[in-house]
Amino acid sequence: MPETRLAVYVTAQTVKQLAEASLPAEKALELLRRLNVERVYVENYRMGLFVPPDQLAKVGKVFSSEGYEVAGGSCIGTWGEGWGRYADFGFRVICLTDERNLALLEKAMREAGAVFDSILIDDFWAQWCTCPNCVAEFNRRFGLSVSRSVLLRELSRGDTPTARLWSRFSTELLLEVSKERVVKPFREAGGRRVVVKVAEWREDFYVRGLHVPSLVKVFDGIYVGTESRERVRSYGSHYITLLVRELAGGVEGVWFDTYDGLGWEHPVSVETYIDQLLSSLTPLPPELTLFNLWDLLQPKCQPHVEAVEQHYPALSSALSRVGGEPLGLVRPSLLPPFSPLEDRYIEDYIGSIGVPLKPAREVPKGSAVLLTAKEVGLIDLEDLLARVKVLFLTSGAIRRLLRGDAGEAGYDVLAGAELLYDHFAASIFEYRGAAAMEGHRRASLLPVGPVLNARQGESIVTVSDGWERRAAILRLAARGVPVIALCITDYPQLLGEYPEIVRQAVRDLVGEHLGIKLSPARGPLTNVSLHAYSDGHLVLVNHNGHWVSARVDINPELCGFSGSPTLVRGRATVSTVGGGGFEVELPPRSYAILKVC
Ligand SMILES: [Zn+2]
Repeated sequence: MPETRLAVYVTAQTVKQLAEASLPAEKALELLRRLNVERVYVENYRMGLFVPPDQLAKVGKVFSSEGYEVAGGSCIGTWGEGWGRYADFGFRVICLTDERNLALLEKAMREAGAVFDSILIDDFWAQWCTCPNCVAEFNRRFGLSVSRSVLLRELSRGDTPTARLWSRFSTELLLEVSKERVVKPFREAGGRRVVVKVAEWREDFYVRGLHVPSLVKVFDGIYVGTESRERVRSYGSHYITLLVRELAGGVEGVWFDTYDGLGWEHPVSVETYIDQLLSSLTPLPPELTLFNLWDLLQPKCQPHVEAVEQHYPALSSALSRVGGEPLGLVRPSLLPPFSPLEDRYIEDYIGSIGVPLKPAREVPKGSAVLLTAKEVGLIDLEDLLARVKVLFLTSGAIRRLLRGDAGEAGYDVLAGAELLYDHFAASIFEYRGAAAMEGHRRASLLPVGPVLNARQGESIVTVSDGWERRAAILRLAARGVPVIALCITDYPQLLGEYPEIVRQAVRDLVGEHLGIKLSPARGPLTNVSLHAYSDGHLVLVNHNGHWVSARVDINPELCGFSGSPTLVRGRATVSTVGGGGFEVELPPRSYAILKVC
């Protein structure tokens, strides 16, 4: 893979300051040189501020004359004074059925097209609005008569017929406006390529009109928001990039910022910023954009700039040696046409116990697949059963199958298992003859569910409250295909709280099909990521503020590579141990890039 090139985005407000010299160009250039940036995005519109074409061209020249590749940028989804109707989410975004807005965004695209050959649209470009006009247009197109309050209620209930139709409405509206009022004026003015960025909130893409397979038919490329700020799992940065690449057939690049996602007043911690950087690079994107120049020039972001300086060259050069495809438990890549309530961002939590995931539009034959609540009803389960070697079900998927959301085929997958309890508060967890109980300075009662009554199933992880013993992870057989019911994912954050043997059971079950398995050498293994590639590269990340000792076992027949590990990059210590495995000692908040051969 070629090295991921670095870009910096300059917002319209900063472009104006550069044009008027209230921000000296030399300050910006100094930062670009320091970071070894190759491309600069020069924005012409944001939150009501238009940068006139002559100022755009002037600032573009400042960068291009110094050898930087220059492209345009625009934040046409944002509302400003003088525009038409808007939706307010704490930030204001434009209504797409208001002609006043459409005329202004057309102006923005036309002016940018007169200056730039290509442009990147920031991710406020989506269908956010539920104003009375938008609801009336929705009713008109689909022959409905919902009110705004009914619509909002239905959208908040997950998979409902109204939510599914609203997703279609949002997509059609966004695509029409994108085609006629965004791409067309840009090209008519002389521009050529329009790339659209999708945000980090992948679970709401479809309801907000961002149906990626349709977007690529209108735009020339897709950029991905990989912001993993505080309090979220940075595995999501890696996962969303693989997902969008799969849905779009490729990505142009990834982008993140310096915000903490909490009060927006303070920058994200440097440790989390480095996590974001690493998890944005492990999907091997062609470009990474840092948002934005102004923030990176502020004194409070100097530690972040230093972190990029320190880690970026080493990471991008090490990862450029990766020649293989990502390996993992296969996730059928579908965008749910609703905002999912069950299994929302579940991949980020499963990825953070050291189980790599791999989104795939076409499920490869003979693969290990994870089915979540999000796909039930959108996928042919009979076809899936005929393809997979093993099928894993989340708690959410099991609940939907029990509710009959996939009809007879769903009951078949559950092999006749029935609901016994919705939840069970367990204190003792048993796996492979070992029993574990949390309790030392920690809560010991932890819920699992749904609890199934399966006559023919085999309990893999058994739980007890001291009286009853029930299965929390269960192996079923549907038409001879092993089905693993993971009745432990209702509260995904608890995956990090259960006793270690629960996480190990999941890693063992996936590892025996993947051929790469992580287990703790000492202490628990949680809040860690494993990225595996078919050419034998592995990236192990310790997101914790404490040391982590992991053992890696490789089965060459399954994963296609073998041999001893070499540490390519990182502060870890690697040592081979008995049984063909090796151990990796990871210091707090660190990573190891390894090559096994
Ligand atoms: Zn509206």
